[in-house]
Amino acid sequence: DFLKLANAGIQGLMPYQPGKPVEEVARELNLDPDSIVKLASNENPHGPGQQALNAIQRELTELARYPDGSGYRLKAALAQKLGLSPRQITLGNGSNDLLDLVGRCWLAPGRNAVYSEYAFAVYPITTQAAGAAHKVVPARDWGHDLNAMAQAIDENTGVVFIANPNNPTGTWLSEKQLREFMAQVPEQVLVVLDEAYFEYVEESVYPDGVALLQDYPNLLVCRTFSKAYGLASLRVGYSLSSVGIAETLNRVRQPFNVNSLALEAALAALGDEAYLQQSVITNKAGMLQLETAFRELGLNYIPSVGNFICVDVGDAEAVNQALLKEGVIVRPLRPYRMNNHLRISIGLPEENQRFIDALKKVL
Ligand code: PMP
Repeated sequence: DFLKLANAGIQGLMPYQPGKPVEEVARELNLDPDSIVKLASNENPHGPGQQALNAIQRELTELARYPDGSGYRLKAALAQKLGLSPRQITLGNGSNDLLDLVGRCWLAPGRNAVYSEYAFAVYPITTQAAGAAHKVVPARDWGHDLNAMAQAIDENTGVVFIANPNNPTGTWLSEKQLREFMAQVPEQVLVVLDEAYFEYVEESVYPDGVALLQDYPNLLVCRTFSKAYGLASLRVGYSLSSVGIAETLNRVRQPFNVNSLALEAALAALGDEAYLQQSVITNKAGMLQLETAFRELGLNYIPSVGNFICVDVGDAEAVNQALLKEGVIVRPLRPYRMNNHLRISIGLPEENQRFIDALKKVL
């Protein structure tokens, strides 16, 4: 039976569970799709920026051609912005693609990956798909326990995954904490610093992964155009690393892993400072709006620096079902064994208010 001959790691794997699409929820509950508020996938509530849309429009005439498989212009723009060489940059079909490439390059049966208890769902998938073992380290105050993670590293560890800020909890690590951790990591272990929510963070001691690269040759930083740049559907992310790491990833990267609309839109988005700033401002205001409501309702929440926040509502499954009936989609965290929490993505002010009103009603 060839299904049983799939690689051992893959046989035990559960597929990534994305949030339900609006149309499905609308049909199940007999609601008007336009009345539904979706705050479930940490998307940018502004929609794509106009400059990105214009770039896509211009690029449409080129759809019969393969995209530039080297991502020359986007890499050049990123390199200039970040003060790196283009050879240190790898483009991915979303940053998920880069996480997958890392697993294929540095994980295998007999090896293991270290990550925190409340880690982004793609880390276990990548690890298991490569047939490697998981070393899941209990969290501390919902965040990474870096000392315990350093302790968990052994001679078979290939990769450590750290998201900063972390998804789903929104917790974050300071530069000092990360540097102390890196000092304990053997140099043959690759540390993936996943900065999917980097652009939202304004804390003064929050580290810029790029600044750490020169000190740690075993560091790879991942970022994405899916969140603050508002291009989740186009699937484009990038990693920053030593030239050697980038060249290794490039060996297994699909030749045209980022399509031409994504390349052009990302390039335009990178230059659209006003859109980025507006996204960050909206997020900050929305975060305050939700925190204020949670305090008024006497609900505990996990302070977050991302574009989402986890709130303790008691029986999260029951509250989630009740919210769905009100036409509000949020993210239950049962797969993370956070049975009392819901994760709410920050929306536009009126979307946040719809959620708050629905929450008040159902609690
Ligand atoms: N890393 C983290 C921590 C995330 O939360 C996400 C998105 N949910 C990703 C990576 C992947 O994002 P994308 O593939 O859209 O770039």
